[in-house]
Amino acid sequence: MTYFVFIVVMFIDLDHLLATPIFDSNRCSINFHPLHTYYAIAVYVGFLFFKKTRILGIGLLLHILADSVDCWMM
Ligand SMILES: [Zn+2]
Repeated sequence: MTYFVFIVVMFIDLDHLLATPIFDSNRCSINFHPLHTYYAIAVYVGFLFFKKTRILGIGLLLHILADSVDCWMM
């Protein structure tokens, strides 16, 4: 299960790789990438309500949180 979570969290990182340029410190990832929209975040929060997907939700939300911090620092 932990391995599966690791794969999915890697998948959300692909969002960053698909963007051009890949890394832009002046860009806010939230609502820029498809997996970083408020709709996607709502789905991740939904994962927290189910025992089987809870750890997945936590992993994804931690990623969103890390990206959000970058936005606030700008
Ligand atoms: Zn991200």
